[in-house]
Amino acid sequence: AKDSGRGQMCLYEPLMDEKIERSRTLAADMQGALERGEFHLMFQPIYDLAGERILSCEALLRWTSRNHGAISPAEFIPIAEDNGLIVAIGSWVIREACRVASDWPAEVKIAVNLSPIQLRSANLPTVIMGALASSGFAADRLELEVTESVLLEDIEASLAALDAINRLHVRTTLDDFGTGYSSLSYLTKFPFQTLKIDRSFITDLEQSHASVAIVQTVIDLAAKLGMRTVAEGVETQAQLDQLRRTRCDAVQGYLLARPMPANMVGAMFAGGAAG
Ligand code: C2E
Ligand code: CA
Ligand code: CA
Ligand code: CA
Repeated sequence: AKDSGRGQMCLYEPLMDEKIERSRTLAADMQGALERGEFHLMFQPIYDLAGERILSCEALLRWTSRNHGAISPAEFIPIAEDNGLIVAIGSWVIREACRVASDWPAEVKIAVNLSPIQLRSANLPTVIMGALASSGFAADRLELEVTESVLLEDIEASLAALDAINRLHVRTTLDDFGTGYSSLSYLTKFPFQTLKIDRSFITDLEQSHASVAIVQTVIDLAAKLGMRTVAEGVETQAQLDQLRRTRCDAVQGYLLARPMPANMVGAMFAGGAAG
């Protein structure tokens, strides 16, 4: 801590120092963690509106560190973005997701989250092609999720990267829609096949008529623009009932299924749970 005397800062700074210290330790540990195989993926099913068929599963990254235990992606992904390891880790995620999903029924897709840094990295198309080739996975079963905030930072570069992905016949999803600053008109600019409505709107569906109106408007507009819609973070039956009154295409959330390990997804499909 700085020489902050005996004011309030004394209560605050040791905590900040601990946080910075932990970030440094995690950053230093990350490369080794990747080599030691400490990262793994969980998979959360995305269902059709009836809740009967699994259309896709979202791959969610987990780090179980031998030194620090389970670490949330909300904590370690920003660190990986800072130290640049997100490209190596993200490439592993794409390869691993395609490898796992290649055992699933052919109508089930896999959704993979992309960091903005990955989206703008020049070798992304090569990484994608490599993952598809080594797993034998069909390009049009891969969906890459991008959050809206990244697009506006550099519109030209984002457009070029999305075009390159779409040219490989890989699909793109606009994730967390509604949380950023983009206007609805941006939807016409970017070539997304799917729009994922952020959990915050779904959470509010029960309490707020305004949220119902917003969600309905977004779904209608997306449909007119030829985009599919997914509602994320569906936790209650009331939310699902509300969504069923819309023309939303797919739903994802704890109500339907939590993220689960690859072997559980495999067992579900083997048991005939998919279409
Ligand atoms: P996201 O892409 O919005 O992913 C959805 C998050 O919401 C996941 O958290 C998921 O477990 C959680 N979730 C799913 N259903 C529900 C629900 O009904 N209620 C609530 N409260 N939460 C639900 P998770 O796995 O902790 O991931 C957090 C974020 O970390 C993700 O948000 C994504 O931005 C990022 N992330 C995860 N895996 C990757 C990855 O492989 N690469 C990159 N770049 N980011 C990733
Ligand atoms: Ca996502
Ligand atoms: Ca999301
Ligand atoms: Ca979200």
